[in-house]
Amino acid sequence: MAAAEPNGGLAARLAEIRSALPPHTRLLAVSKGQNAAAIRQAAALAQRSFGESRLQEALAKQAELADLEPLDWHFIGRLQANKVRPVLKAFGTIHAIDSLDLALRVARIAGEEGLAPRLLLQVKFRPDPAKGGFTPEELQAHWAQLQTLAPAVVVGLMTITPLGLSAQESAAVFGECRALADALALEECSMGMSGDWRAAASAGSTWVRIGSALFGSRH
Ligand SMILES: *Cc1c(COP(=O)(O)O)cnc(C)c1O
Repeated sequence: MAAAEPNGGLAARLAEIRSALPPHTRLLAVSKGQNAAAIRQAAALAQRSFGESRLQEALAKQAELADLEPLDWHFIGRLQANKVRPVLKAFGTIHAIDSLDLALRVARIAGEEGLAPRLLLQVKFRPDPAKGGFTPEELQAHWAQLQTLAPAVVVGLMTITPLGLSAQESAAVFGECRALADALALEECSMGMSGDWRAAASAGSTWVRIGSALFGSRH
């Protein structure tokens, strides 16, 4: 009933997702395209971690929400070189480190700013011209250098499945991502979105990034 549910069913959707997630999987509520009021409602339901992909939009909402207990902000979009400094100041976790150059720049600026951001390296397990990221081979080749990013900390891998994969193919990609993270002794695997989070969670995702299935369509 719309009148009885001022949040448009957010509480019910949050409860359903929470009950379906295994203990190793946390929910990153992807709030890009949603207003600060929606984030406030989710925060009132004890959701603390939010994902944004556009800096200016995120900063405006963070300012509106400054009265709340500090939230856990994750930057999930493509990070442009000239945005690294302001992104590091506003986000504790970056999900889409997609090149060695970017990783080294993040590490340098984190050092200058006295910050210790948590980084996830974006990996492309299938050819996908629409997306950036390391191939597994590139990641292995750069791995020694990627372990020298202090004070930034590489905590895991992140992947986005290409559009149009079958459920079975997506599950295979998620399994490969988990296996590579394990081989590198990385705890976090950021994988799974509104359409495929259940399969990702089963495969060992530690962060499912869910936007529209939680908040509804974006504005
Ligand atoms: C927008 C976005 C999501 C969430 O997408 P939904 O399909 O709405 O769940 C997850 N991950 C990334 C990287 C995104 O840009």
